[in-house]
Amino acid sequence: MSLLEVRNLHAGYGDAEVLFGIDLTVERGEVVAIVGSNGAGKTTLLRTLSGIVTPTAGQVLFINRDVTGLQPHLLVEEGIVMVPEGRRLFPRLSVRRNLEIAAYSKRARPKLAESLRDVHELFPILKERSDQLAGTLSGGQQQMVALARGLTSNPEILMVDEVSLGLAPVMVSRVYDAIRAIRDTGMTIVLVEQNVNQALSIADRAYVVQHGRIVLAGTGKELKSNEEVRNAYLGLEKLEEETL
Ligand code: ATP
Repeated sequence: MSLLEVRNLHAGYGDAEVLFGIDLTVERGEVVAIVGSNGAGKTTLLRTLSGIVTPTAGQVLFINRDVTGLQPHLLVEEGIVMVPEGRRLFPRLSVRRNLEIAAYSKRARPKLAESLRDVHELFPILKERSDQLAGTLSGGQQQMVALARGLTSNPEILMVDEVSLGLAPVMVSRVYDAIRAIRDTGMTIVLVEQNVNQALSIADRAYVVQHGRIVLAGTGKELKSNEEVRNAYLGLEKLEEETL
């Protein structure tokens, strides 16, 4: 039994269909990357899995339970937690308060003290900066707060959208170190990324999304050496890095 199983998922915005029958599985303890270019539908997929966008067809099974179309707060209670693109912190609240607020659900509240302890162990900088206003941290540190907020929601599966977006390369490496540390606790992680190289380096398995469809799937290693992937995504990234 997979932790998450998505079958023939369709979704979109009004009349504009964006996802055209997505099938994927995530096993417990895996890091699964969903990669693809701008506008391919990756964020829409995460929004649908976290209940922000309602699917028009298909099924989402979580630990073999049908959770298709559940409201976001109910999915959070199930342990399906998304770290949104752009971090969405409360900039005028302290780091600690940002973390506490993330533990609003019934499943997370009783475990808040334990979660804070775990998060501080994983990211000691967040303990040091507990009283600092979140908006005054560097971009990389803010991204760590966003990941930590995900963890204080006590997830079974952590879905992370565009974690490296807008960060300098050195910060991207630090944030990926943080994701490795989270993975090493046994957490199941779904990573949506335009930074294909980084995502495939950490992923056990990955899916390539194009125009709302999965066009390739394999282990991170397989896709990294796949010629189509290299030509379509990795070459471009290298070029972008070189022009930085
Ligand atoms: P990006 O990395 O740029 O976020 P993506 O692969 O995550 O790309 P989506 O953000 O899911 O792609 O967008 C897929 C399509 O859905 C795009 O054509 C986009 O214009 C459209 N779209 C996204 N959000 C909305 C919205 N709120 N209303 C209408 N259309 C939207």
